Amino acid sequence: MVDFGVVRGEFPILDQRVHGHPLVYLDSAATAQKPQAVIDVESEFYRTINAGVHRGAHELAALSTEAFETARAKVAKLVGADSEEGHEEIVVTAGATAGLNLLATAFGNASLGRGGEAAQRFALKPGDEIVVSKAEHHSVLLPFQELAARTGATLRWFDLSEDGRIRADTANEVITPRTKVVAITHVSNVTGAVTELAPIVARAHEVGAVFVLDACQSVPHMPIDFHALDVDFAAWSAHKMYGPTGVGFLYGRRELLEALPPASFGGSMVELAWMDQPAQYMEPPARFEAGTQPVAQVVAAGVAADWMREIGMENIAAHEHAIAGELLHLGDIEGVRILGPADDHDRIGTVAFDVSGVHPHDVGQFIDAQGIAIRVGHHCAQPVHRHFGLYASNRASTGVYTSIEDAQALLEAVKHVREFFER
Ligand code: PMP
Repeated sequence: MVDFGVVRGEFPILDQRVHGHPLVYLDSAATAQKPQAVIDVESEFYRTINAGVHRGAHELAALSTEAFETARAKVAKLVGADSEEGHEEIVVTAGATAGLNLLATAFGNASLGRGGEAAQRFALKPGDEIVVSKAEHHSVLLPFQELAARTGATLRWFDLSEDGRIRADTANEVITPRTKVVAITHVSNVTGAVTELAPIVARAHEVGAVFVLDACQSVPHMPIDFHALDVDFAAWSAHKMYGPTGVGFLYGRRELLEALPPASFGGSMVELAWMDQPAQYMEPPARFEAGTQPVAQVVAAGVAADWMREIGMENIAAHEHAIAGELLHLGDIEGVRILGPADDHDRIGTVAFDVSGVHPHDVGQFIDAQGIAIRVGHHCAQPVHRHFGLYASNRASTGVYTSIEDAQALLEAVKHVREFFER
């Protein structure tokens, strides 16, 4: 039995007062706080083994390379990916946004004929289709919208049910034999709804399309096995899974990574370079990791991955599920509407809500004055807000350290929002 009170105690930042109140941090969907083990490992790395990886014959370079590759393996283990040498399925990126742009750029390069015969499975041309959903974060929508514009492909999308779920039941109509790429979120960063992936992935593969998953809001909150989910690629950020900012990961099925052309070019990704001949690129994952890597941050992300697995992803999911149930009582408050599923099945503890007649920025400020941190705005997902007839909303979101008392503090504060602004 995990004592989540003890887990919370591992987060030094939570032990402070804000505006005279104990901090209640309900903004983990934006970024998660870091446990002491993650904070410590970065400085330990810089104090002991800091060096560039995969370069140089000196001892520190060997030690930092080993730490870097061990971290990659730890991250792979968290998500059910391969990490044996020569079979690595995890690419280090600068974050989810960077990973999704890497894919869209690489598919665009394939469309220009780059990457040879093998890369043609990613090539797009006019008449081909790219499918997303109305629930996408702009980090999915925009790279693939741009890819469509660059290649002449058509962008299509899944509509949402009234409570904001992606209409997986329409997969056979939305995904057609012309579909080449399907890019969908696993969990909405606004509604907290978990996407019913199986019929969408199955249909994508039936028509020979590549399936890209935005796993930003699922990896931190539930057990994940990308092989079992049968997705082709998945992108997420370390900072939402208790790791550092500035790094993220891209999962790719090994055989697809081997066929994918590079998206950015420079040092550390090339086998042979000449003045008068095209370069010969390295095998994945190095082919996609041009430039000097954020080694300390990757090592710390590896520690975060192990830290989560030690608590147990099933335990984390169950803990946050209970808090989600409490947060959903927001919907019982007069004038408060939940944007997304109002019941607690197939959702995480991210709950967006609207307070009738009060702008989210006012709500956020009123709540902040009581030491409670929530996110307000469109959360980089404008189409899903339009679906609910709004431009912006308020969003509370949980992490492993969130307590029922945190949720109750928010409920109590929200109860008084309207009376305060109606005075
Ligand atoms: N997708 C989703 C669902 C997200 O919640 C986020 C972060 N808000 C992103 C993509 C982008 O992540 P990052 O800003 O870390 O690149």
